[in-house]
Amino acid sequence: MGNYSLWSVVKHGLTGNKGWKPVWRKAAPKPSYDVIIVGGGGHGLATAYYLAKEHGITNVALVERGLIGQGNVGRNTTIVRSNYLLPENARFYEWSLKLWEGLSQELNYNVMFSQRGVLNLAHTPMQLDQYAQRGNAMRLNGIDAELLGREDIARLCPGIDLSLNARFPIEGGLFQPRGGTARHDAVAWGYAYAADGMGVDIVENCEVLGFIREGDTIIGVNTSRGEIRAPKIGVAVAGMTSEVMRKAGVETLPIESHILQAFVSEPVKPLIDTVVAFGAGHMYVSQSDKGGLVFGGNLDSYNSYAQRGNLPIVHEVVAELLAVFPNLGRLKLLRSWGGVMDMSMDGSPIITTGPLPGLFLNCGWCYGGFKATPGSGWCFAWTIAHDEPHARNAAFTLERFHAGAVIDEKGAGAAPRLH
Ligand SMILES: Cc1cc2nc3c(=O)[nH]c(=O)nc-3n(C[C@H](O)[C@H](O)[C@H](O)COP(=O)(O)OP(=O)(O)OC[C@H]3O[C@@H](n4cnc5c(N)ncnc54)[C@H](O)[C@@H]3O)c2cc1C
Repeated sequence: MGNYSLWSVVKHGLTGNKGWKPVWRKAAPKPSYDVIIVGGGGHGLATAYYLAKEHGITNVALVERGLIGQGNVGRNTTIVRSNYLLPENARFYEWSLKLWEGLSQELNYNVMFSQRGVLNLAHTPMQLDQYAQRGNAMRLNGIDAELLGREDIARLCPGIDLSLNARFPIEGGLFQPRGGTARHDAVAWGYAYAADGMGVDIVENCEVLGFIREGDTIIGVNTSRGEIRAPKIGVAVAGMTSEVMRKAGVETLPIESHILQAFVSEPVKPLIDTVVAFGAGHMYVSQSDKGGLVFGGNLDSYNSYAQRGNLPIVHEVVAELLAVFPNLGRLKLLRSWGGVMDMSMDGSPIITTGPLPGLFLNCGWCYGGFKATPGSGWCFAWTIAHDEPHARNAAFTLERFHAGAVIDEKGAGAAPRLH
């Protein structure tokens, strides 16, 4: 740790940049650990880091079936915000946002967190009233929120079509100034770098193929690189949750896997200086440091484990982008890709002990998992270290689905494609 500084950049620059060490070791698995984390996405890596940093548990293996950063953590549209309505989510996501604010310094790795603000557009007076309600709830929860009029939006984002004869005229919007974006793969690499520095073994190309049981208790994993045992095993595999948990004998979970696509345009000069979310459908856009417009929208609503989606969503999302920014009509689409999303039945996450002794589960991230990365890792590490949830994730249990105490942020019910 601690080897990224102005001094080290100058020193390595003067010696031909030949002395840099790999960001993390390519660890081989040992036969046993205190904790095994399954899944080298943002959540698994952050959990391993906070286990070491906050709880002094460093005898940890993080096992990843491929290379770290190739799952959803490296596929998302990088939006970070905490503009939630319900207190359980507001509390949790605001805690996560606070962790983001010091993350680059804490990890000694630049995750390029940019607090450029997140603007949700309202297209009807009723929607603006709903945003006023959400903004008030946010402020009561200690979260920054500003209700903007059309003139404010014109100042904030001059490229937006504010004409009254637009297809979906803009009435105003809800703005969270502390929201923004971060460089997604740097988040995976930064957590890997910091966790490795404290002794965590990051074991790549190590797929979990099954679980070792002693009665009902899970005591290890069978992997493509052999058997590994530990008294505590945390599973954070996002869209593969149902498949991996089935290997432990857990057949039913309130999770569905769906594809979410993302798109990036050819690079252009600075045009969109904040994150803009269209309110008459589902589309969100920001501009990357390289100049490409990064945008996304709705799920491909069928279930799938393919990391690619279909053309109708491309048409839908591009049409929504052009409804707000008609000036982009001649821009070329550079790339598109998809990720497998772990959609929970109420749109809120699960960070819990169980569902079997020895096992801990982190999933159900829906559209919110990237912004949750630091908070999720922090809470999951606490839950594993203490064998019970922290107050910040106490509501994110599996029991809530049995008890009917769901956290239905969008009021959409058990319909993942609407969350
Ligand atoms: C296109 C898209 C856009 C998104 N946009 C945003 C956004 O703007 N803001 C936001 O907050 N969220 C966004 N999300 C959601 C967010 O990216 C995810 O919720 C979050 O990354 C999921 O957690 P993770 O990083 O741990 O998942 P992942 O990176 O998917 O990590 C899970 C890991 O588990 C591994 N794994 C699976 N099975 C096994 C096995 N058997 N053995 C070992 N390892 C295994 C996988 O290889 C993978 O690396 C978006 C997602 C997508 C797909």
